[in-house]
This record gives sequence, structure tokens and C-alpha cells, in this order.
Amino acid sequence: MAEEIILEVNNLTKSFPAGSGLFRRKETGDAKVVDGVSFKVKAGETLGLVGESGCGKTTLGKCILQLYRPTQGEVLFKGIDLCQLSDKALRPMRQKLQVIFQDPYDSLNPRFTATDIIGEPLRIHGKTGNYRERISELLNMVGLSANMADRYPHEFSGGQRQRLGIARALALQPDFIICDEPISALDVSIQAQIINLLDDLQEQFGIGYLFISHDISVVRHISDRVMVMYLGKIMEISSRDELYNSPLHPYTQALLSAVPIPDPDIEAKRDVILLKGEVAGSASLPGGCVFHPRCRHAFEQCSSVVPLLKDAGGSHQVACLLHEMSWP
Ligand code: SF4
Repeated sequence: MAEEIILEVNNLTKSFPAGSGLFRRKETGDAKVVDGVSFKVKAGETLGLVGESGCGKTTLGKCILQLYRPTQGEVLFKGIDLCQLSDKALRPMRQKLQVIFQDPYDSLNPRFTATDIIGEPLRIHGKTGNYRERISELLNMVGLSANMADRYPHEFSGGQRQRLGIARALALQPDFIICDEPISALDVSIQAQIINLLDDLQEQFGIGYLFISHDISVVRHISDRVMVMYLGKIMEISSRDELYNSPLHPYTQALLSAVPIPDPDIEAKRDVILLKGEVAGSASLPGGCVFHPRCRHAFEQCSSVVPLLKDAGGSHQVACLLHEMSWP
């Protein structure tokens, strides 16, 4: 039997008016932050999304959740295009599509107790039967004690606050969670605990994740497949092992070359690929391949021809003219 596709994103694009931020700049036209992104996620699967800060990862997550309405494209969640739904029609869908944010402290109301925080989605969706029991159950699920139910966020550690955020996301028994940099604000010692918790919950409840991170080594630990993003476009998608063992895109190769190796002998011989220049602004994207100003393999056509994401054997899809030329 074919595996169920829970999330399908087709040609998703999000533009913002250039210079529309707090510090208005002189650019005109639109800044394309997400550009023609397409991918699928199976039920119970974790797709990692990795890229440098400002590459459009969080905007993509918000477009999937419809917190930003996409400029173009489709977001099919369980076969229903969320982009076509009104805010009212989206409400029931949100029960099954949840989010965990980066900073647990910022995302929790300091005046709410743990019960208020975890119970908020239950109250909003009118699911208040056995309320206290359900809160205790959710606290236990994320490794917290039921007697912490009346504490406020400042009475929890950073890792415990992220557990509260996870409990809130679990309250309505979601099928899919967007985890937006969920461990970036935590101490290294706590990060592994949260990754393990997410893993356990996935095994227990079959939840799918889109796991967003700027850290390619963190993504490795939790993902079944990994997607690499640069300036709003997908550069490469592959199964985790293929991507980490034989990355095809020059950007992925550079990201992986910068990951420290715990063995000092190997580390000393490591060949780090230094990326030249700065990441371009989304209002002034380079023509052709968006990565070409920083690519050590760039050749003439790279500045004028846009590479498309194409199958490259195995589970690999890659957007690079270099690989297109070597295909039959
Ligand atoms: Fe580099 Fe050209 Fe491939 Fe872009 S298309 S990644 S510039 S070789």
C-alpha cells in the first residue's frame, strides 16, 4: 500500500513589498522570500529543513501554517489546499497542524500557568471535557510532573519551558507539527533531551514533523529526509544518509564541510569549504542560480540559467547546472 502523503507543497512563493519593514529601504518591487518551493512529507515522517539565517525557512513554515498567506502555490494538508480556505474554515484544520516555536519563553504568556498554557488550544476548540486530567496527561507525556500544573513560565527551566510548548502543541492530537528551530535557544545538554522527546512522541503517535534548523548536524539526528534551502529556493532534497554521505549541491557540500569532527586527527585534516561573500538580500536576488556569486564551481551559464530541482539518482533531487550537464 502506498504511504500516505500528509503534506504536499506545490510551487509555494511568498513575496513581501521591498522596503516595507521598520527601516524602510530604497528598494522597489517585491522581495521574494520563498520562491517556487515544492515537496511532500509522508505521514509519520520527519523532513529536516536546513539553511543559513534569512534563507526563508521560517517564512516557509509560516506559509504552510497560513500565518502568512502565500503569494502563489498550494499547501495540501491531508489533500485540502489550505491556501483556498477562509480564516474560519482554517480553524478546524489547525487542530491537526501545530507548531513549536524557537524561543519557549517568548512563546509562553508569562501571566498564564502551565495549565492555562497547555489548555489554551483545548479551550479555543471547546474540548474541555476531563480538562484537569488531560492537562496532567499532557504534562506527563512531555516528561513534566502533574504537580507543576499551577506554576508560571518563569518557574520552569529553558528545557522545561520547551516541554510546555510541546505539550501545548500535542493537546489537540495533531498529525503534523512544524518545529521551528525548537532547540536553538536551549543549552547543548538539553537539546538532545528535546530531540529524544520529539522522537519518542513520533513513535508513539505517528506525528509527522517539518524540523527547521540552521544547524545541519542537529537536523541529521532527527530527520528521515533533509531539504537544503538557500535564498528562498530548495537546492537539494534527499534521504538523510545519502545527503550526509554524498551531498551533491555545492552549497550542501560547504555546509557539511564546516561541521566539526570530534576526532582531532580527522579534524586537523578536514577540508573546510569557505563560502565567499555575503548572502544577498531577498530584494536583490542574483540572476540565474541564486548561489552563483558564492559557488566555487560556478561557470558562465550559472549567472543566467536558473537550475531546476531534478532527480539525480537514488533519493536525490538537486538544483545545479553542473549536475544537469552530467545527466543523460
Ligand atoms: Fe554552482 Fe552553478 Fe551549480 Fe549554482 S548551478 S550551484 S552556481 S555550479
